[in-house]
Amino acid sequence: MDCDSTPLDALAPTLARLRTHWQAARPDAVQRRNDLARLRDALRRRLDEMAAVVSADFGHRPRAETLLADGMTVLGEIDRLRRHLRGWMRPQRVGVGWRLWPARAQLRRVPVGVVGVIAPWNYPVNLALIPLATAIAAGNHVYLKPSEHTPRTSEFLHSLLAEVFPVERVAVALGDADVGATFAALPFDHLVFTGSTAVGRKVMAAAAPHLTPLTLELGGKSPAIVCPDYPLDKAAARLVTGKLFNAGQTCIAPDYVLIDAARRDALVEAIRREVRARYQGDAAQDLAHIINPAQRARLRGLLDDAGGRGLTVLPLLDLHGDGLLAPTLVIEPGDDAAVMGEEIFGPILPVLSYGSLDEAIAFVNARDRPLALYPFSHDRAQVESILQATLAGGVTVNDTLLHFAATGLPFGGIGPSGMGAYHGRAGFDAMTKALPVLWQSRLAASDLLKPPYARVRRLVDFIAR
Ligand code: NAD
Repeated sequence: MDCDSTPLDALAPTLARLRTHWQAARPDAVQRRNDLARLRDALRRRLDEMAAVVSADFGHRPRAETLLADGMTVLGEIDRLRRHLRGWMRPQRVGVGWRLWPARAQLRRVPVGVVGVIAPWNYPVNLALIPLATAIAAGNHVYLKPSEHTPRTSEFLHSLLAEVFPVERVAVALGDADVGATFAALPFDHLVFTGSTAVGRKVMAAAAPHLTPLTLELGGKSPAIVCPDYPLDKAAARLVTGKLFNAGQTCIAPDYVLIDAARRDALVEAIRREVRARYQGDAAQDLAHIINPAQRARLRGLLDDAGGRGLTVLPLLDLHGDGLLAPTLVIEPGDDAAVMGEEIFGPILPVLSYGSLDEAIAFVNARDRPLALYPFSHDRAQVESILQATLAGGVTVNDTLLHFAATGLPFGGIGPSGMGAYHGRAGFDAMTKALPVLWQSRLAASDLLKPPYARVRRLVDFIAR
């Protein structure tokens, strides 16, 4: 199914309309809280429809996964934004220093104008609506471009947002990479892009002429490091959860696992047992399909490349069905293997062994800074040594994915995995301007600091000291 594409020449006028109306009436706190409440109600009412369209776009995706990842997280985030909004909006009194006394100063969090949001297909509701809701909480108007690879969900978002917002405040652009490229080149006041690192580079280049401020939520290869003390069954269970939720089509899925050499084969067995216990037979319906033929071909290409190199490739289930790809382990791929050359974004897990923890850390540090890192150890010193020696967008210790869902934590990458952060206060701050305001007093010593300086030399000497 193709969705109707927004004509390229309609994009700039839509942004102009959003901006004109924002200038005329910047949303106040009451408006923002009402908007968020209506968005929450509309989404809540239409959760079943949401799960159905997402599943149709994927060929099949478990309802439970869509409700958890695209429903609960969005509703929870809207609740948090509503709860904290007034506190975050309150101007903060700051000191001026004795030289400017008795002037007063404050820092205000003011909306910036129109925020553009470009979303990917893997969590198509979450990654569109959390940035959008944050931009609304921050007092902005929003122009959203969802992914062309989830056309039914994009139409759903379009209709949901049209139900909640007038077109002067929130608009949706539908279309593919061409629409995305034109969209990214518009003079937004802030642009939030979630997608691949390769397209993130293009977005940054497109934003450069206008110096559009960017939040880039990108991808990469997120490692898991299982330390020698950590119980294998537990590690296997939590790795499988992180890897097979949405069939691995998750930006922060563990991409590969590093395990102490002596326990490598035992980990492989533990993962195999865990996967079979969860997905064998009818339970295979709890595994999401790979979104489209192009992605399936890409993933099969990674496996063919590994097989062609003589690597051990272990499918863990015997699955039948067009959209399904069996969870598969690839044992000890070298750097030249395709599976280690790009973000996997599917149910394939390379298992690599290390001799010492330092070796595992060096392996991670020799590569791009990842979006997520998953150390597994009950030994605090070992976890600390990993945290001290590496840098990632975010970390969950002894599990996977969960730092994304923790209410108090900002989410974002570093270097090739992204820049900036959102979720809660971090997103509110990113999509507002911290406006410094200094209020001069009726009487001020600074009035005296003017030429001819000879007359006030002592005062200048005193103040400038
Ligand atoms: P993608 O980069 O191919 O597409 C993302 C969006 O960008 C789509 O809406 C697309 O139409 C648009 N687009 C395409 N070309 C464009 C261009 N030249 N200019 C502007 N926009 C353009 O990504 P995808 O395949 O939809 O998603 C998968 C990638 O996203 C993975 O790399 C994954 O790790 C990453 N991701 C990151 C996060 C995160 O929060 N950091 C979350 C989910 C996915």
